[in-house]
Amino acid sequence: MCPRSCEWGLFIVISTMSRAALFERLSSEGPFDLAIIGGGATGLGVALDAALRGYKVVLLESHDFAKGTSSRATKLVHGGVRYLAQGNVSLVREALHERAVLLRNAPHLAQPIPFVMPSYRWWETAFYGLGLKLYDLLAGASALGATEFLSRAEVLARVPQSKQAGLRGGVQYWDGQFDDARLALALARTAEQQGALLLNYCPVTALRHEAGRVVGVQCRDGETGQSYEVRASCVVNATGVWVDAIRAMDAQGVDQVAEPMVTPSQGVHLVVDRSFFNAEHALLVPSTADGRVLFAVPWLGKVILGTTDTPRQDLPREPEPFEAEVDFILREAGRYLEKAPTRADVRSVWVGLRPLVKPQRERGENTKGLSREHTVLSSASGMVTVTGGKWTTYRAMAEDVLAQCVRTGALQARSVSSGTADCRLVGAQAGPSAVAPVAMTQPPGAHLYGSEQAALHALPGAEVWLCEGLSEAMVRFAARYEFARTVEDVLARRSRLLFLDARQAVSVAPAVAQILVQETGFDPQLDGFKALAQHYSLP
Ligand SMILES: Cc1cc2nc3c(=O)[nH]c(=O)nc-3n(C[C@H](O)[C@H](O)[C@H](O)COP(=O)(O)OP(=O)(O)OC[C@H]3O[C@@H](n4cnc5c(N)ncnc54)[C@H](O)[C@@H]3O)c2cc1C
Repeated sequence: MCPRSCEWGLFIVISTMSRAALFERLSSEGPFDLAIIGGGATGLGVALDAALRGYKVVLLESHDFAKGTSSRATKLVHGGVRYLAQGNVSLVREALHERAVLLRNAPHLAQPIPFVMPSYRWWETAFYGLGLKLYDLLAGASALGATEFLSRAEVLARVPQSKQAGLRGGVQYWDGQFDDARLALALARTAEQQGALLLNYCPVTALRHEAGRVVGVQCRDGETGQSYEVRASCVVNATGVWVDAIRAMDAQGVDQVAEPMVTPSQGVHLVVDRSFFNAEHALLVPSTADGRVLFAVPWLGKVILGTTDTPRQDLPREPEPFEAEVDFILREAGRYLEKAPTRADVRSVWVGLRPLVKPQRERGENTKGLSREHTVLSSASGMVTVTGGKWTTYRAMAEDVLAQCVRTGALQARSVSSGTADCRLVGAQAGPSAVAPVAMTQPPGAHLYGSEQAALHALPGAEVWLCEGLSEAMVRFAARYEFARTVEDVLARRSRLLFLDARQAVSVAPAVAQILVQETGFDPQLDGFKALAQHYSLP
């Protein structure tokens, strides 16, 4: 059963509150039980969990929600076939359970998709097929469909553009796919409906300590420059690859030094047209020439090819792909597809940074690793840091964070379970829908708004299309209800056009800017967007 308060949220008239009103709340509503730093999947998941438990929550994001790693995933809701190969059974089981919860709670944004693993060597079908049967077994009642052994003809029927030379057969298994940035916004808006206060463009600039304990944060409105003091019983650092900067601030406040805990690694994705891969199935190459995994995933009318895993020392906001990474993806795609994409075919390229957590012994610190994949730890001042993990498991991570906050005494226990498992996110139908959701493989459109489509259509410009999948009303909706401030917010994360076709995104940007000015009266930073879009095109 969905908790009463959560179910009620689905019927609420969608709320709109001006940015000034949100800052008014920030000044007047403190002290808070929980101040969360970082508005990616992890921080937003913690905000929703805590708000559902009845805590008074504020979340502060330095840029836009999901601007960091959380809009740059491969868009898979998955148990992690790769971890199974590493023998990490408990991790896979947890992720498979979370996969089912996510698909249930946001069916307009996350859906099952069949994957085909083609075999070019005699032993591959049996080897991978048996492994994937185990994947089904671990999923138990959460399984999305049974793994099937495929003949050569069956592989070609499902993925007609597979490389034919040497193809012997394959395996089909099931996982999920989603729109990561829109899911982040759905989380933010669901948390807001539950009473949480969320602010984007509001970086945390300092932490406040008293008697060796962290008691709050200082943040700054990125638009006005005004600073705010926010008191909170518990401060959660959910800043992804950037956690070490906040940990250093915290340690400095209590005259200590925090050893860095994150080693970043980047992953590149290339987007090409469906003419290279016109299937409703995704393709997984389990072992590329150098032993990596490669995906071709149909998504929002295009195809995502990726990814890489390249260590890097710096933490840029807009990481660039290395030439070798682009070459690797194109070369490997050419080995498994009949029509090989070239650099000129790439519509968009985006890069995400993985927060890989260093082993505990290397940090010389007393940590509490609650799972092999994500890490939750408390500092001497009581600040709780969470990082690592994956999008699919954000909900389980949030539960671990709340448990840690209670364990350290920063929060009084309120309820044993959070209610997030049964909480349908904004846009999900309240009950079972008679209409099957439109597949995530299809071009974007109003269906991505789920149960909010009527509200979208009621806005001016519902029939005025700026390009396929983006109407004037969608821009207004983004500004009024989805916290959008800039052209980038609209074109990168409310619509995903920048991630699908960077040049087309630049061409519609002036029209988006004009509508945003009408809605917000604020400079929507059109020139900044044009400069940024260059990072999403290959030279
Ligand atoms: C290439 C790649 C592919 C992936 N694919 C998948 C996939 O298919 N499926 C899956 O389940 N997972 C996937 N993942 C993992 C998943 O994307 C991440 O685990 C998840 O997005 C991390 O979310 P986060 O909130 O911890 O970090 P982030 O999304 O980076 O959020 C941290 C936030 O903190 C903010 N911040 C930083 N400093 C401050 C400050 N001082 N004040 C306020 N805010 C601040 C940042 O702006 C940022 O928005 C992938 C990861 C990568 C890199």
